[in-house]
Amino acid sequence: MTTRMPAAFFGHGNPMNTLEHNRFTETWADFAQRIPKPRVILAISAHWYINASAVTAMAHPKTIHDFYGFPPELFAVEYPAPGDPALAQQIANTVDPIWVGMDADSWGLDHGTWSVLAHMYPNADVPVVQLAIDSTKSIDEHVALGTALAPLRDEGVLILASGNVVHNLRMVQWDNPDGAFDWAIDFDEATRAVMTEQPSAFPSLREHPAYALAVPTPDHFLPLAYIAGLAVAANHVASIPVAGYNLGSLSMTSYELPA
Ligand code: ZN
Repeated sequence: MTTRMPAAFFGHGNPMNTLEHNRFTETWADFAQRIPKPRVILAISAHWYINASAVTAMAHPKTIHDFYGFPPELFAVEYPAPGDPALAQQIANTVDPIWVGMDADSWGLDHGTWSVLAHMYPNADVPVVQLAIDSTKSIDEHVALGTALAPLRDEGVLILASGNVVHNLRMVQWDNPDGAFDWAIDFDEATRAVMTEQPSAFPSLREHPAYALAVPTPDHFLPLAYIAGLAVAANHVASIPVAGYNLGSLSMTSYELPA
């Protein structure tokens, strides 16, 4: 297949979004409805944050319930999409000389991936490969790896990143469902400006005064670096299908690149 695919970053937020319906989950479902059906999805989730680059290379990735303290119906969710071992190998070849390992049995599909895909493709009928986020790489290296993945978009691969630009769980305000701290708004708006005006400046967000509060650990922020890298490769800025906040210290803002 040679369909050129869009690419997207979705703010996944609370795992309960898997089972709920709100303006964010409706955006994810709507996105899937208005784009060509992908041949395969390459998912870049905040929740596979390890000391190496790797892709899931198994034919049948397991559903991973990587959270605690949630109701049984969330632990009962299965997302039985097949894998695509051939794509896993193709990813490694495409980004060479950047090294990407083949994960045969350690990971699978985590909730960063399936909380979103449950709304996009509820029948789990599109194969999914996950790419780990290598914690040893710099922001610039993540952007560069995103750029290196760009040729896959011409082969029917939907690159789907899942995280949250602002993600500070220690600062969560349970009585503030849709609001945000001023620093969270400042950082989210600075990120919006970069992604919609000059994605090549993405690494400069690290210098933002609110970076340490908004990004206390980089796992939820870095998936967006891949979309910035793809934007650079396409020489195109991102658009924002939905924006907003959750619990004071989470941003739900999402980004997409056109086909
Ligand atoms: Zn998460």
